[in-house]
Amino acid sequence: MARYAEAVCRLCRRQGEKLFLKGERCFSPKCAIEDRNFPPGQHGNARRRKMSEHGLQLREKQKARFIYGVLERQFRRHYQEASRRPGMTGENLLQELELRLDNVVFRLGFADSRNQARQIVLHGHVALNGRKTDIPSARVRIGDVIAWAPGSVNTELFKITAKGISSKSIPDWLDLSIAQMTGRVLSVPARGQVDTKVNEQAIVEYYSR
Ligand code: SF4
Repeated sequence: MARYAEAVCRLCRRQGEKLFLKGERCFSPKCAIEDRNFPPGQHGNARRRKMSEHGLQLREKQKARFIYGVLERQFRRHYQEASRRPGMTGENLLQELELRLDNVVFRLGFADSRNQARQIVLHGHVALNGRKTDIPSARVRIGDVIAWAPGSVNTELFKITAKGISSKSIPDWLDLSIAQMTGRVLSVPARGQVDTKVNEQAIVEYYSR
């Protein structure tokens, strides 16, 4: 499956803000935004131009895509699903993104970044309701249980994750059993429970043009 091949820090530099795509590194002085907060490329250091309304909407859409690590076609599918549901399309869209299996694995602290969470799922380390699932975009529902696949609990990755999990902060729409290293979805997250800094209304306006 196609993924972003370029260095992810370039995505942050292009957006002009931290998108937190690299786990721990994003909180360290090594973060590229700390010392090179200008767009990548030869003329990146030139002054940023004022953006049109459409440009701002596009930027918010791209930002959300990069944060959740979703390619355009799949992002549009999430949007279409969100617009079919009752309620505010922007909030629905964020819920669709939050309820992806790779995002939930990240939110539970099983991975340092969504990118790592995606790899963990793809490599078959995750079980959803007792069944090994290797589809990062699988949608989880209220009551679903997310666990490590039985064959993965002896891996170094599992041991390192289990050791550090108590220091992770878990959103209150999820429940984590540290002893079992399993998580459960308690509710669909409301906008106030999602800390992703995107203007979802601008994304709705982008797709409504
Ligand atoms: Fe973005 Fe993280 Fe790279 Fe900083 S370290 S530029 S926040 S991906």
